[in-house]
Amino acid sequence: MPGLFKQSIALLRGFLITGRYLFRPPVTVLYPEVKTKVAQRFKGRHWLTRYADGVERCVGCELCEIVCPSQAIYVKAAENTPERQISKGERHAEQFQINMLRCIFCGFCEEACPTGSIVLGQDYELAGYSRASLVYTKPMLTEPYPGASGRDPGREV
Ligand code: SF4
Ligand code: SF4
Repeated sequence: MPGLFKQSIALLRGFLITGRYLFRPPVTVLYPEVKTKVAQRFKGRHWLTRYADGVERCVGCELCEIVCPSQAIYVKAAENTPERQISKGERHAEQFQINMLRCIFCGFCEEACPTGSIVLGQDYELAGYSRASLVYTKPMLTEPYPGASGRDPGREV
């Protein structure tokens, strides 16, 4: 009999919880039509950013490649020339790749970058159908215009 009493109380408590939520608005997430807003500190898709005048920040120093614990980054640097000044340093990144299958989104590359070039943005939709599509190349990583990645193009490092 005490067991039956305990079960009845538990049942009643369950109904009370159901009743409490019965008339509240639904909390269904309407993804992908409505995207979830992530925290400011969220580390998502990488971008190679530009200065406000459009010049690339990356100087091809390879520090991000060295510091990456997953060996996900590949940088091939090339010299700037007076006719071809891609960045504000002596060199620029001729090739830049990030293997998103290896990346663990630790943010070490962002912290190591001396020019504030590489940043981890807010984008989290990173699925792909092939391995090749998940090796991001420099054209994929470089923001199309200053500030396109969501980061202030005039900011200091
Ligand atoms: S976030 Fe971490 S794992 Fe990913 S590329 Fe940068 S350093 Fe490498
Ligand atoms: S992204 Fe930054 S750390 Fe990486 S090569 Fe370019 S300037 Fe150097």
